[in-house]
Amino acid sequence: MLGSGLLQGLAVTAKNLAGSFHDPARYVTTEYPEQRTKLPENYRNFPFLVHDDPADPNGTLRCVACQICEKECPPQCIYIVMERDEKGKALRRPKVFDLDISVCMSCQICVEVCPFDAIKMDQEYEIATRNRFGGLLLHREDLSKSNAYYHQIHPTEAAGVDAALAEQKAKQAAAKAAKAAPAPKAAATTATPATAATAQDSAISPAPAAPPPASAPDTPANPAPANPPPDA
Ligand code: SF4
Ligand code: SF4
Repeated sequence: MLGSGLLQGLAVTAKNLAGSFHDPARYVTTEYPEQRTKLPENYRNFPFLVHDDPADPNGTLRCVACQICEKECPPQCIYIVMERDEKGKALRRPKVFDLDISVCMSCQICVEVCPFDAIKMDQEYEIATRNRFGGLLLHREDLSKSNAYYHQIHPTEAAGVDAALAEQKAKQAAAKAAKAAPAPKAAATTATPATAATAQDSAISPAPAAPPPASAPDTPANPAPANPPPDA
């Protein structure tokens, strides 16, 4: 019958409307902004920078201003300037780190290429502004967020990053300790007298000569012909 699909749809809507008054499972509306739906862990929008100490966010940024992400960003929406001391020596931290989220396409390439796990994808979506240009250009201070925040939005990923960084630190500490340890004494000073004497004997005694072949031929294996043929 013409219109039966429409009537069926209206019946389902009416059933859910009436049911939502006594069955919470049927009440699917989220009353935003008073209520918020928990986002899936893998949801992402724009990048942020991770710092390790909220008391000193700029001093503990993991970013070393290597500019790899700036070079790799497809729409070129990252701008970084390295901080330098008065003699011009690089301090390996960003003086300027700007990110234009009006251009960012949330591709996450900056996150993938960062060798220091310093930049991650955020889940902050309430970013509407009337200022189309300045309001969407985020600076270092806007981008800097704590590792605790990173754990809050991406718990599985953040735990993996922490474990990898801890392992890397342990390896570096072990390598540093091995480098600082005194060098082992020379092998000659540690050799026992018996070993040393044996080594000396073998050095003095010449190696036995190789025995002659059992039946050495009197003539070379491929003797030259006595009368070579004339050239053609
Ligand atoms: S976020 Fe990572 S890749 Fe980008 S400049 Fe900082 S350390 Fe380098
Ligand atoms: S997510 Fe993609 S577009 Fe956005 S800053 Fe990173 S690399 Fe650039």
